[in-house]
Amino acid sequence: MAKRDYYDVLGVAKGASEEELKKAYRSLAMKYHPDRNKDDKTAEAKFKELNEAYEVLKDKDKRAAYDRMGHAAFDPSMGGGAGGFGGGFGARGAGGFSDIFEEVFGDFMGAAGGGRARRASSGVEGADVRHDLKITLEQAFKGYNAKIKVATMKACGTCSGSGAEKGTGVKTCTLCQGSGTVRSRQGFFTLERTCHQCGGAGQIIEKPCGTCRGQGRTLSEKNLTVSVPAGIEDGSRIRLTGEGEAGLRGGANGDLYVFVSVKPHPVFAREGADLHCEVPIPMSTATLGGDIEVPTIEGGKARITIPEGTQSGKTFRLKGKGMTMLRRTTRGDMYLHARVETPVKLSKRQRELMEEFAQLGAKASNSPECDSFLKKVKNFWDSLKD
Ligand SMILES: [Zn+2]
Ligand SMILES: [Zn+2]
Repeated sequence: MAKRDYYDVLGVAKGASEEELKKAYRSLAMKYHPDRNKDDKTAEAKFKELNEAYEVLKDKDKRAAYDRMGHAAFDPSMGGGAGGFGGGFGARGAGGFSDIFEEVFGDFMGAAGGGRARRASSGVEGADVRHDLKITLEQAFKGYNAKIKVATMKACGTCSGSGAEKGTGVKTCTLCQGSGTVRSRQGFFTLERTCHQCGGAGQIIEKPCGTCRGQGRTLSEKNLTVSVPAGIEDGSRIRLTGEGEAGLRGGANGDLYVFVSVKPHPVFAREGADLHCEVPIPMSTATLGGDIEVPTIEGGKARITIPEGTQSGKTFRLKGKGMTMLRRTTRGDMYLHARVETPVKLSKRQRELMEEFAQLGAKASNSPECDSFLKKVKNFWDSLKD
């Protein structure tokens, strides 16, 4: 398949500025991100194409090469003509593109949220945090705004995350000049090591903040609302960007991953979008036929007609009475599995009637399954005779 022009992919003009490219990338990446388009192959392909285009156009050198030579600039069969870009995409796994996404959105969150500064060279990113959330099947059906409490490292309020006591400063490390790493030459190689004077921070705190002991972060509890979409599957993951552990020295915050599990339901069993329900049916209703009421997941009732002569194991389907589906307007179906119940604790009169029923002489056609079973057994015994 012919590759689309990178500028077309991003929907910008050839002379677009860096800012325009980034803006176009952001809005398209949000639209086609795999998290929002589960199981959609077209969106996945678009997201890859988009990342590939942006990866080239955001880089001045690669963009110049692309402007000059088009896709041939990155084609390994052309011998990597444009100075070593060849084969770059083939070698990169699909996961590699998430770096670009993170990079752009990390930035974006900073601009929108105010507090989050651009990643400093010595900054340490906050770790991702996991939170387990249990919801009921009804909540999964309707969608649910879950209020959760998460204990995590937050930027210290006293020192605003700097780690230094109010009024005192933070000095740039003299050994590494703030880079956090020191270089040394050994023969042909330049080695880079973490600076031992500042521990890689690039800064030295004169007087540590009393609240966080110079850490810049404190452990605290956050209250958050997680919007769980209708139709969510057991074992799904919801990402809350930037709600994980706070970053250090301007590093980006980690993300919070909410792992959603759906509790088993006493009445319904879920299978994908469908619901299954085992319904006991009195023997008399199963024999004579009649209407019964069954529950529905939305909390209402449905009436179904049980035909005369219904056997255990017979399945009735209620179309569109199953679960909601993620980002879809249609619903699954509900399957009702009949289980005929033999009556117990009969009264004297009931017993008399049952005995009378039996004495009337059951015909083979009354119980076709018993009859067919007896025939099979008889054949089996006969086969053993000779
Ligand atoms: Zn502090
Ligand atoms: Zn240092």
